[in-house]
Amino acid sequence: MADWDHEWQEAVGRVTAAFERLPAAVRGELAGGARAMVAHKEAMQRLVARVDAATHCAGCGGACCVKGKYHFSAVDLLVYLATDKPLFTPRFDNGLCPFLGEPECLIPSGYRPFNCITFNCDLIEDQLTRDEVSRFYRMEQELAARYADIRGLFPARSMDGSLL
Ligand code: SF4
Repeated sequence: MADWDHEWQEAVGRVTAAFERLPAAVRGELAGGARAMVAHKEAMQRLVARVDAATHCAGCGGACCVKGKYHFSAVDLLVYLATDKPLFTPRFDNGLCPFLGEPECLIPSGYRPFNCITFNCDLIEDQLTRDEVSRFYRMEQELAARYADIRGLFPARSMDGSLL
């Protein structure tokens, strides 16, 4: 466990140092993109909340989160930093997704990793209308573009992929 904690601290330190080196104008641009991304993810979450996703997830036991690993990316951390959001402490000792708390994700929906916000299991998707499904997948593409915009504020490939 200690190794994962150490790797986490190192990765957070690396991204934080890059964030702090940003010129003020770029940091302002990042803050705007970060706020827009949080609002975008919350809107996606509201779309599935309409079909009582929380009850379906509770009934299933959150199998997707139990299996989830290391979805949190460098861009996700940059959104925390740019909006001054206090960072959670992962739980590398739980044998599950290290960001799964008791009883729910340690990350608020507006800050949750791309894979977690865009994944709908059949239980949820079957409750959505065809229009809602189309809207959800259009929002997924827009969200991917928002991630690319934030990565584009840094040297090529330096903010690609998951933090760990
Ligand atoms: S980060 Fe949160 S939503 Fe994503 S798999 Fe882990 S516990 Fe689930």
